[in-house]
Amino acid sequence: MELEAAMFDMDGVLFDSMKNHAKCWHETMAHFGMDLPEWEAYMHEGRTGAGTINLVSVRQRGHEASEDEIGRIYQYKSDLFNQCPKAVRMPGAYELLQKVKASGVVPMVVTGSGQKTLLERLNRNFPGIFHEELMVTAFDVKYGKPNPEPYLMGMEKYRKVLSAAGKETVAPNHFIVVENAPLGVEAGVAAGVFTIAVNTGPLPDDALLSQGADLLFHSMQELCDEWEMVVNRLKN
Ligand code: CA
Repeated sequence: MELEAAMFDMDGVLFDSMKNHAKCWHETMAHFGMDLPEWEAYMHEGRTGAGTINLVSVRQRGHEASEDEIGRIYQYKSDLFNQCPKAVRMPGAYELLQKVKASGVVPMVVTGSGQKTLLERLNRNFPGIFHEELMVTAFDVKYGKPNPEPYLMGMEKYRKVLSAAGKETVAPNHFIVVENAPLGVEAGVAAGVFTIAVNTGPLPDDALLSQGADLLFHSMQELCDEWEMVVNRLKN
């Protein structure tokens, strides 16, 4: 099969931002009287903000947060995050994206993040790589990861672009997912897509492999170095 599009998660894959996210989640929930330890934030990585807030709220208060409260909590967390030092590009990420594009594969972003400055930031850090119509963010999805919805929507967006160009639709085996989080791997696998885990955080490899990851690398640089091998393996 020919690989057509590669769907990249953002935090912990394109940006080295998970430490900041974990710290901000902990401080935000403490401010609203709830407890979410930093280590636990890595377990929920990939969920929508509302999903994480409700999970903690149900556990600690016995009920979900109201829509209004979710808005205030997520705003607080976003404000804190924006005050953090800007997370840098993950080493090897831009080189990989350029390789992906040069090999004729379309790079896409599929993220649970709802930062308003997201597109501008992606374009500044990865110039010439991404297209707005081929991005899935928190604004697009209802359930978020680990539900396959974000990746199903990513494939749908790609097919819409194909259809507008008068081209035939493509099956899930023409896509890959690149993820660093267990819930993200779970979502990619559930969407029926070949899923590559990149273990850039504190979790053991098995946390990703046990969710069904098809391949695992330990950094974006390593995936970048092995990109030709990945493409060849998918062809056979
Ligand atoms: Ca991630």
